[in-house]
Amino acid sequence: MIKLWKAVIFLADTAQLKQGQTIGIIGGGQLGQMLVLSAKAMGLKTIILDPDATCPAGQAADAQIVAPYDDLLALEELAKRSDVLTYEFENVDLAALEHLTDAKLLPQGTKLLQITKNRLAEKAFLHEHGLKTAPFRAVNTRAELEQAVAQLGFPSILKTCEGGYDGKAQFTLKEEADLDVASELLAQGPCILEGFVNFSLECSVMVARNAKGEVTVFPVSENVHRDHILHESIIPARITSKEHKKAQTIAIKIAQSLNLRGILGVELFVEPNGEIYVNELAPRPHNSGHYSIEACNFSQFDIHNRAVMNWPLPKIELLKPAIMVNILGQHKALSEDLIARKPQWHFHDYGKKDVRVDRKMGHITILTDDLEQTLAEIKATQVWD
Ligand code: AMP
Repeated sequence: MIKLWKAVIFLADTAQLKQGQTIGIIGGGQLGQMLVLSAKAMGLKTIILDPDATCPAGQAADAQIVAPYDDLLALEELAKRSDVLTYEFENVDLAALEHLTDAKLLPQGTKLLQITKNRLAEKAFLHEHGLKTAPFRAVNTRAELEQAVAQLGFPSILKTCEGGYDGKAQFTLKEEADLDVASELLAQGPCILEGFVNFSLECSVMVARNAKGEVTVFPVSENVHRDHILHESIIPARITSKEHKKAQTIAIKIAQSLNLRGILGVELFVEPNGEIYVNELAPRPHNSGHYSIEACNFSQFDIHNRAVMNWPLPKIELLKPAIMVNILGQHKALSEDLIARKPQWHFHDYGKKDVRVDRKMGHITILTDDLEQTLAEIKATQVWD
């Protein structure tokens, strides 16, 4: 029986899924929505699992199962109605997914999630493969925090190992007096203290690999954050061509080491001396890759779909430099006014019902021959002031 099961996995592993077959996606946010739109154009069907009946991906998909992500019966139904499964966020219930891998093919597997959903496991993995990260220490108690701060110094950043995103569940320690507030984070679970990297630039690279072992890599995106949330991505990143190559090489190395299936976002810090540190891995399409919809020959969503369906992976080309700017809740009304004035800009809206401060509502991509001029043009709108 076990042998038979292995044989089934092996066959499915190298098989290429066909047009007309169905991708089941766990999670129905904007990443899911853009995966769905790409899949539709490729002739694939999609079904979403999300508790919100009005979620962005559900609005575009062929079907939706309205249930929590960890609902085992709902996951089983999703598996039954899909030919292949994927997810659009990393905080998927691992136990629930492991339960599923017995019943359905999940090309990305669960090991990738085990590594990327835990900052400590992720950093350990990166170190094992000879990649540079910020220095770090595991911290579970106040005493361990004090010891780690003594070793790494100020400033340093305390982060929960699991569950944080967009700078949530982390605290920057600048001086001794910050220890009290920082240690409150320990109540949320195991933490990691990271030494501060004095980077000149934050970048990311999207990389993908399929079951045949083909790898493809996107250009490097330069990312500007505001209050820890991505504000703008500038492509290509304003780094030297040597740094660009180095960043892509790091991403490819990670994809190979992970035996990756699907797409992965690699977040990087670039130091003024050209040293590159890996900050984080995101085992899914990434906000900083949205520019690829208009600016590349294939989008990050096309490539993720192709990778999980085990279709061949093309070489990615940047057709034109681009800037992507996020529309958060507080920018939504003003950004709508821009539509009439900016015919060359690509406006995306995720169809979210509730407009909230700092909630990602949509984005704009601008193709340009002059990045500096376009950055100034964005600023001049005063929408993001
Ligand atoms: P993260 O959630 O780990 O991506 O952190 C959010 C943001 O905090 C990053 O995009 C950086 O701007 C900053 N940050 C995180 N870790 C470090 C670090 N070790 N050194 C310097 N800045 C950091």
